[in-house]
Amino acid sequence: MSEYVLPPAATPSVPVLGSAARFPVRRIFCVGRNYAAHVREMGGDATREAPIFFTKPADAVVTDGRDAPYPSATSDLHHEVELVIAIGTGGADMNPAQADAAIWGWAVGVDLTRRDLQAAAKKAGQPWDTAKAFDASAPIGAITPRSALKDPAGAIRLKIGGDTRQDATLADMIWDPVGIVGEASKLWRLEPGDLIFTGTPEGVGPLQRGESVEASIEGLSPLSFRMV
Ligand code: MN
Repeated sequence: MSEYVLPPAATPSVPVLGSAARFPVRRIFCVGRNYAAHVREMGGDATREAPIFFTKPADAVVTDGRDAPYPSATSDLHHEVELVIAIGTGGADMNPAQADAAIWGWAVGVDLTRRDLQAAAKKAGQPWDTAKAFDASAPIGAITPRSALKDPAGAIRLKIGGDTRQDATLADMIWDPVGIVGEASKLWRLEPGDLIFTGTPEGVGPLQRGESVEASIEGLSPLSFRMV
């Protein structure tokens, strides 16, 4: 057994609906530009290209209804409600059947984004890390196991203080979950514990300190948190 010069960090984890055991988070992958109407609202062209991936650190998750601290260095924090895939079986270069079998469960997540820094990075051709991969940038609800819901479908919504801001359907996804897992597995060997945020529909917008966010996807455990 190894000894360390510093105490190793705890494994980030997400609660699981109907279980006392938690889902250990290994990595967080995210897909950009996966709903045509959102691509258009960001000034893009919604043709079906390979999905765009970026990442967040595993310890960016905000779980168990905890408050999310408003991040430093932005004056335009945006909400993006997303279906999150929880990977239970690893693999590389997965075919559709393997990709489907790799999915352990689902959650509702919010990809918090420093939109001002993202716009500057896009303009300068720079990476998105400071816009996307900051501390506490990934609030996520309890994971609903595949055994309880094989395939989510229907409404995906986000409300701020009871006011609906995003209201769309998972049917509008350009890449479906099996397609996303297959494409991700061409770029990384996926491992148990990986999470994949699958992109947001239209209606993204600013979030302020003190606001309460309620995010939901039909059939999944909802996500609530407060910006502080
Ligand atoms: Mn997103």
